[in-house]
Amino acid sequence: MSYDSNNVFAKILRHEIPNTTVYEDDFVLAFKDINPKAKIHVLVIPKGAYVDFQDLLDHAPQSEIDGFLKGILATVHALNLTNGYRLVLNTGKDSGQEVPHLHAHILAGEKLCVNQL
Ligand code: 5GP
Repeated sequence: MSYDSNNVFAKILRHEIPNTTVYEDDFVLAFKDINPKAKIHVLVIPKGAYVDFQDLLDHAPQSEIDGFLKGILATVHALNLTNGYRLVLNTGKDSGQEVPHLHAHILAGEKLCVNQL
């Protein structure tokens, strides 16, 4: 899948759509999911234009790969998730990925069901 710069997360990065930011650095933006599936549901997206995890690994410089992974952990720390969390990377059709810009879901804040999200 090629990157479509009209996707909703690209628009959020360009400040064309508002978001509730919980963490930001040079490499990632983390914001609350508009339709939360858990008490805490945050999305972490790289600032670079990548469709999914494979695209990031295949095309991003190491600094952006490291920045994405460290940005996820920095978001976890910013949210103070001492009781744990679930990390989900939906990828492709079968996963139900809706937005074609790489994003990590962080779910937390309650005891999560096996099939939550
Ligand atoms: P996916 O199914 O692609 O893994 O997840 C996309 C997520 O993006 C969904 O959980 C959906 O609720 C969220 N989402 C879609 N549009 C928006 C939006 O405009 N703002 C925010 N904050 N979240 C969105």
